[in-house]
Amino acid sequence: MKVVKLDPRGGRKGANTDRGRALVAGGAGFLGSHLCERLLHDGYEVVVLDNFHTGKRYNLNGMHRDPFFTCIKHDIVDALPMDLAVDEIYNLACPASPPHYQADPIHTFKTSVLGSINLLELARRHNAKIFQASTSEIYGDPLVHPQPESYFGNVNTHGPRSCYDEGKRSAETLFFDYSRTYGIDVRVARIFNTYGRRMQPDDGRVVSNFIVQALRGEDITVYGSGMQTRSFCYVDDLIEGFIRLMNAPTSPAHPVNLGNPVEFTIMELAELVIDYTNSRSRIVHRPLPVDDPKQRKPDISFARQHLDWEPKISLREGLAHTTQYFDALLGSRRPVKEA
Ligand code: NAD
Ligand code: UDP
Repeated sequence: MKVVKLDPRGGRKGANTDRGRALVAGGAGFLGSHLCERLLHDGYEVVVLDNFHTGKRYNLNGMHRDPFFTCIKHDIVDALPMDLAVDEIYNLACPASPPHYQADPIHTFKTSVLGSINLLELARRHNAKIFQASTSEIYGDPLVHPQPESYFGNVNTHGPRSCYDEGKRSAETLFFDYSRTYGIDVRVARIFNTYGRRMQPDDGRVVSNFIVQALRGEDITVYGSGMQTRSFCYVDDLIEGFIRLMNAPTSPAHPVNLGNPVEFTIMELAELVIDYTNSRSRIVHRPLPVDDPKQRKPDISFARQHLDWEPKISLREGLAHTTQYFDALLGSRRPVKEA
């Protein structure tokens, strides 16, 4: 499987090739695997670091055979296994779904803080450009709507979501302090709810939960009244945003919102999913989790103006693709609507 000889001592960038070398921490996850595919397609040599907490080896199927692809099992909380010469680093390593990041909250926090430091030190040693997958969660339960990058947020420091929210906020601090202190080129994306192919059926986030429940004919679990809102971005649009942010000629001096600005209530999402899956599932209500944000919608003016980026795929189209993916995965054989 591992054909490319990595140069563990560093010094030779893109060893054995004149390709740029990109390190993707969290590359076996939902977003990471799509990013790896895109980077290989764009001519990079790709090295994944992943502890497989929520990522899966089968997300990388097809890539394993690529001579310019290597996957190393490693937890970024620990010192890196080798001093790898890299040109670009993408830090996507962190469980993203509330049930997963709350399962071991201290490790989640360490992943954002110690993991970021380990990767930032690598970037410093090799003068590599480094990207951080930050999140709309840094706005907490926002009091400003929609959320521009200039909004500082409204976050509980000690609730069950804090390990993720405050970990990601600390990581943003680290990225910009490394930039100011050592002159590292950092790119920080604040990602809003993104969905699509390669989400795990047991991921626990709302889009995968609803589609899986609908395909299995189970009750659709709306937490609270369902009047809370989210803005859902399809994965292909988001990955294009990552690449544009990373390749922008100069580093924006602040984090950049990436997400779809079209806002839906969770109840509207449930109804759309039932429609797309032709499901007979019933909607049932469950208690709203603690600190669940009431509304969320990105202001993407900066990305529009400076990256010439905005999402192209509507929720209806993205749901059709995602439903087809889960339908094949679960073998549910229900008639699913085309996009
Ligand atoms: P995911 O859970 O599918 O992927 C996370 C990946 O990181 C997995 O492969 C997991 O095994 C790996 N990982 C976790 N902790 C690690 C550690 N300590 N060391 C090494 N690998 C580790 O989630 P995703 O949706 O693909 O999210 C990717 C990144 O994007 C995360 O950092 C997440 O916080 C961020 N993000 C995602 C969304 C979204 O809607 N998908 C929104 C905001 C931010
Ligand atoms: N949600 C829901 N049912 C589910 C899973 C989630 O109603 O089965 C709600 C959740 O309470 C939140 C929204 O959907 O209001 C988005 O949840 P998700 O975990 O996908 O993302 P986040 O809360 O991190 O934005």
